[in-house]
Amino acid sequence: MRFVVLSSGSKANCTFVEAAGQRILIDCGLSGKKAEERLADHKIDPATITSVLVTHEHSDHIHGVPTLSRRYGMTVYANEATMEHVSKPKRREVFTTGCDFSIGEVDITPFSIAHDAVDPVGFVVRAEGFKLVVVTDLGRVTTLVQEHVRGANALILESNHDQEMLQGCSYTWDLKQRISSTHGHLCNESAGQLIEDVMHPELFHIVLGHLSENSNTPVLALECANRYLDKCRERRSGLRTLLCGNVYESLPCLYLDEPYQGGVVINA
Ligand SMILES: [Zn+2]
Ligand SMILES: [Zn+2]
Repeated sequence: MRFVVLSSGSKANCTFVEAAGQRILIDCGLSGKKAEERLADHKIDPATITSVLVTHEHSDHIHGVPTLSRRYGMTVYANEATMEHVSKPKRREVFTTGCDFSIGEVDITPFSIAHDAVDPVGFVVRAEGFKLVVVTDLGRVTTLVQEHVRGANALILESNHDQEMLQGCSYTWDLKQRISSTHGHLCNESAGQLIEDVMHPELFHIVLGHLSENSNTPVLALECANRYLDKCRERRSGLRTLLCGNVYESLPCLYLDEPYQGGVVINA
């Protein structure tokens, strides 16, 4: 299994996953053209991607989905409420939140998250004996989220804002309330707490995602995650990468089955 975070942030989210012979996108908030360019950087032909899974209907997650579906015949997977917001996908498959489904040998579990969208989900992707979890756009970590993240070998987790920076930034009071509410976005501290809670020696890659450009910095997000990782040193021996996603360029391709070279790669 390998994956590439092609874009992550408040403006556009898109992740490529390849496992068991399947090529899948999770969300596409990038324009069709931008998605094609970033895939080309990794020598991935979009025509070889069969499916795009949609977490929720906000435009930073679905903007490019109709284009890619029409241009390459990708099947759009979403729950019923979310699918209503995706305009004219060429092929569609409706799933039920909480119910597993498969694409070839790749098993997928969409699980409910607390966010201000019609029926938002995170995804557990299982294949080749590995488990990747993608969970962004959540106001709080519920027990359900914890249970789905537990045992992940790779985790793409929202680390949206620094609470102090959010309060001090130029957003309106309403927007600050929305972001910090239980149906808004996850702050660095809550992301860190979840990482500490679920850390285990076979969690290889952590990508902090959906960082706000106005109320967070990669340095703050990484510092916070590292603070929590320091609390569980005995369980973090397998960690190979701790990266922050961004909207300007894709991250390197991360492999789940490559031999461990030692050390932790961190960006900022
Ligand atoms: Zn959202
Ligand atoms: Zn979003």
